[in-house]
Amino acid sequence: MLLRLRTGLAGLDYDAILGIAKELGYEHRFLDEARTLLELRGQPRAGARGRLEENAAVAQVLDSSDAPELHERRGRPDTLVRVRAAAFGRSQASLIAGPCAVESSERLFEIADAVRAAGATLLRGGAFKPRSSPHSFQGLGTEALAWLDEARARTGLGVVTEVLDPRDVDRVAVVTDVFQIGSRSMGYAPLLQEVARVGKPVLLKRGMAATAREFLLAAEYVLAAGNEQVLLCERGIRGFDNTTRNVLDVGAVAWLKKHTHLPVVVDPSHAAGRADLVPALARAGIAAGADGLIVEVHPRPCEARSDGAQAVSYADIARIAAEARAILALDGRTLSSLQGPAPTPGTATDDNRRAPRKEPACDVR
Ligand code: PEP
Ligand code: MN
Repeated sequence: MLLRLRTGLAGLDYDAILGIAKELGYEHRFLDEARTLLELRGQPRAGARGRLEENAAVAQVLDSSDAPELHERRGRPDTLVRVRAAAFGRSQASLIAGPCAVESSERLFEIADAVRAAGATLLRGGAFKPRSSPHSFQGLGTEALAWLDEARARTGLGVVTEVLDPRDVDRVAVVTDVFQIGSRSMGYAPLLQEVARVGKPVLLKRGMAATAREFLLAAEYVLAAGNEQVLLCERGIRGFDNTTRNVLDVGAVAWLKKHTHLPVVVDPSHAAGRADLVPALARAGIAAGADGLIVEVHPRPCEARSDGAQAVSYADIARIAAEARAILALDGRTLSSLQGPAPTPGTATDDNRRAPRKEPACDVR
């Protein structure tokens, strides 16, 4: 059973209603931060509903079948998800940027410095890569996680990295500030429940063939497991036209902002599939109401081990941040920023002491 409580209740009101619930043999938990949705679990007792309904703190008693879903806005203000210096929701937006995959410590630290200077507050980078082919590069795993940890210590950027397998959740949790759930895993309930249990924010990418409703129901798994820190990520859906890698569903971004209180992040990189279109899709995402962007960046795309064609340059990520700031300002919103200089870099690792590799022909960007 679900109780919708009145807003602005005092501690004594909560004590009274929780006392009655206990007396009736129910276990309870609050489903939202504002403590207005109270779930009661246990065998229904005769007369229980009436006793709860007559309590002044209770606005409505709902059966499970008419209970509102947890993602629904229903007049709720935006959920604000804060991660270190980043904030998503209400009047704040944030930029997540970095390589598709972590490739070496040296390259990761260089990209981290560049995206920090451009205005990102979170660093993305895959240690476990969900590739369409089992023969493609699958990520460097544990080694890459350690470099992400070091990149955070050097720059102050928070870390966003994907977890693919429920068995890896605990070791990814040690390093990441935000769990990324990839498009290919969106509907995998055991993984969603396992990450929810950790209590860290979850960046949930929309399945490439998922409807907006299916996307929200996947988020519902995380919310129902007691974790409200969900960032919905629109990354483009499959269309009939492969001119762009996917079709950025800006209509869904605008709709999601009305229908749910959860923050929405746009990934223009996987939507476009080509670097030259990424700035335009980033602008469109923010203009449609997104609370943040996640963008792939690489200085030498021809060397990238995954998604090189869609990786933007250092100059472009700085431009994307500047344009996002300008569009956000039209709505009275701001892009979060890291204050002050980067922390003093740690001592050089073996990897960045090594002589630079002989580079194949590739324009430095
Ligand atoms: C990624 O972010 O690199 C990625 C694989 O994204 P998606 O799950 O959206 O394809
Ligand atoms: Mn990628």
